[in-house]
Amino acid sequence: MRAFYLHGARDLRAAEIEQPQIAADEVLVQVRATGICGSDLHYYIHGRNGDFVPECPFVLGHESAGEVVDAGAFTDGLPAGSRVAIDPSHPCRTCAYCRQGRYNLCPQMRYFGSAACSPPQDGSFREYVPVQAHNCHLLPRALDYRQAALLEPLSIAIHGVGQAGSIAGKRVLVTGAGPIGQLIGLIARHYGAAHLAVSDIRQSALDLAALLWADQSVHADDPAAVAQAAGEGFDVVVEASGAPAALQTAYLHCKAGGTIVQLGVQGGPVELPVNLVMQKELTVRGSFRFAHVFPQALDLLVRRQLDLVPLISQCVAFPDLLAGFDAALQPQTIKVVVDY
Ligand SMILES: [Zn+2]
Ligand SMILES: [Zn+2]
Repeated sequence: MRAFYLHGARDLRAAEIEQPQIAADEVLVQVRATGICGSDLHYYIHGRNGDFVPECPFVLGHESAGEVVDAGAFTDGLPAGSRVAIDPSHPCRTCAYCRQGRYNLCPQMRYFGSAACSPPQDGSFREYVPVQAHNCHLLPRALDYRQAALLEPLSIAIHGVGQAGSIAGKRVLVTGAGPIGQLIGLIARHYGAAHLAVSDIRQSALDLAALLWADQSVHADDPAAVAQAAGEGFDVVVEASGAPAALQTAYLHCKAGGTIVQLGVQGGPVELPVNLVMQKELTVRGSFRFAHVFPQALDLLVRRQLDLVPLISQCVAFPDLLAGFDAALQPQTIKVVVDY
């Protein structure tokens, strides 16, 4: 079968490898769709994702859905032919964090397509993946593989909005209108945010946000426009860009007593206006991956509470993965989905 290995920055190579064996707790899934994520792009461009540096070549890709082709011991619940979305989290399930239910913080987490662990965990830019049965979520016929591939970033967004506490009735700013920012906006709208503003430097991304969920969209390069949009300040700022300038916006325009949720990955150390945290008694919360919300994300799509199709800018065939990465790097692109 074919797999694409990342060997370093801008060095993604196809290889023919053996089809993987499944362990006792796994099924074999033929991948049918995988989204290209911002973290895949970080690894691709820089050879690393923030603090995570791969020690050897590995397979990226963690936003996936596919078909069970070998059910192993799970012929009752996940027979061959089952259509499934894949939760890429593989926590140890025994450490203190796992036992507290915060398995996204598990130090032994093996996350598909991630170099946060050693050795890095291969992901799903390969034709077949072994997946723990526990991580397979059955899809109804009506939900196509492409949308199902977006359940992982949707779960990230649900967790991120959840980190702000209750969002209902709040004035919210989302900095960054990439795929995660767009999903954050859709989720915040769904859960009752009173007013949603968005900032980005890309007009096309702002236009899409304005079409789908944003009450107000402002150019991040225009501080006067951002200040005008902020007015008395936002109750919640969700930082989903990873741009250093967006941090200044977030800390400046979050109102006293407000909450900042940090989702964006910074390329390196940044300066933070911590006096504003002190003076305004800001709450700053990180948001890393997700825990327990994958079924909630699936439920929202199955009940058609959200439409993610407008976020899919382009689809490419699996052998053209490199073209998919190039497309994903274009500023007008929101999400590229790879079809197998
Ligand atoms: Zn992702
Ligand atoms: Zn654990």
